[in-house]
Amino acid sequence: MAEAFCSLCGGRPVYRSPYSGHIYCRACFVKAFEKRVVRTIAAYKMFRRDDRIAVAVSGGKDSLALLNVLARIERGFPEARLFAVTVDEGIEGYRDEAIENAVKMAERLEVPIHIVSFKELYGMTLTEILSSPGAGELGLLACSICGPLRRKAIYTAAKKLGATVVATAHTLDDIVQTYLLKTFRGELGSSEVGLRSEGPTIPRVSPFRLTPEREVVLYAYLCGIPFQTIACPNAASSMRGPIREFLTAYEEKHPGSLYAALRSFEKIPTTSKNLTYCQSCGDPSSRRICRVCELIQTLKHHPQQVR
Ligand code: SF4
Repeated sequence: MAEAFCSLCGGRPVYRSPYSGHIYCRACFVKAFEKRVVRTIAAYKMFRRDDRIAVAVSGGKDSLALLNVLARIERGFPEARLFAVTVDEGIEGYRDEAIENAVKMAERLEVPIHIVSFKELYGMTLTEILSSPGAGELGLLACSICGPLRRKAIYTAAKKLGATVVATAHTLDDIVQTYLLKTFRGELGSSEVGLRSEGPTIPRVSPFRLTPEREVVLYAYLCGIPFQTIACPNAASSMRGPIREFLTAYEEKHPGSLYAALRSFEKIPTTSKNLTYCQSCGDPSSRRICRVCELIQTLKHHPQQVR
């Protein structure tokens, strides 16, 4: 078979898109990748010209790739401000490397970075929370405790720093997984997934919404973005795990299925929730006491206390 070359410039190939069949060299892939992110942002009206954008950076390849793209895009929008927010959950043996990568990348891109920790916000690290008697009583998976606490930590920091929007690195794969998880919980249509909607909370957007995970990984690799060598020790027990495995295998066999699924989910109307304010912390919530305050109160009933 004749050797194939980049469909755009004839250069050395690094990737063949299973969707368009196009072959890309390194430079054409990076350019096409960034162009698609710009188109996604415009199509979903994710940002305003003068936004203060807080990028949620875990230190993993996806969030570092997002910081890289947004820093490059921001150069064309002098009124916009970009900064990174990183949460240190205090997961022994895992988070340190990610934070180190996040700090290095932010320095390389000259983007300010703010690190907020569970210890400072809640009085305990995640490792301490998970080994506390209260966590046992809740009977929740680690990610079900960590997820809401992480979200709250990002919003608390974003609010403090005057952010007008939070950008997360959720990819096409993540967004479809979330829609499916919502389906299984009977919550489909209860809220937007990664789309800007105005309300009392800082809006959250996902500029990788139309970008498959595999292309984010390749972009990160081609741009020399550091990869974390250790996975979160709690990730294996996540509810997302089996859904991710199924969708990845299905997409591998039937490329384009994730895009088709996303289009279907996007047609489902969103019912606006009656947001009030949490009676404990004052943050917007659909419940009298928000999920995080409820978690913290349960943990507080035990001797090893959180703030
Ligand atoms: Fe937290 Fe779960 Fe993510 Fe680990 S995998 S950082 S426990 S949400």
